[in-house]
Amino acid sequence: MTNCIFCKIVSKEIPSEVLYENDHVIAVLDINPIHLGHALILPKKHCNDFLDLPEETYHSILQAAKIVTLALVQSLKLEGYNLFSNNGTIAGQSVFHFHLHITPRYRNDNIRFVLNLKEYSGGDMKKYGTMIRKFIKPPAL
Ligand SMILES: [Zn+2]
Repeated sequence: MTNCIFCKIVSKEIPSEVLYENDHVIAVLDINPIHLGHALILPKKHCNDFLDLPEETYHSILQAAKIVTLALVQSLKLEGYNLFSNNGTIAGQSVFHFHLHITPRYRNDNIRFVLNLKEYSGGDMKKYGTMIRKFIKPPAL
């Protein structure tokens, strides 16, 4: 993708602070971090979002996430961290090239996901389970 900022980071057309790289993924520091050390794991092949991820990248993304998270925990002496991915404009995605965020967390850092938790009532949990299971498609062997 010619106009994708993350593809330009992958191709090194735009400089970035690379933490880790292999054949399928690259891990860089986010230029607008929640906390210093906030990292992004990017597949090298352009894909818009999680559902668009090529299957051959699944393992590399999680493997890189673990390698980078461990490095963050050890280098920054973290007690906690968040891993998350925004998918779709309404979910807060701003760059449409899949990326997984890993951000350090600190005691009393006042960063909160503002959640308004709901409860299932009546048979709603069973209803939702049934509705979703109809669309579960295990991978073909
Ligand atoms: Zn891209």
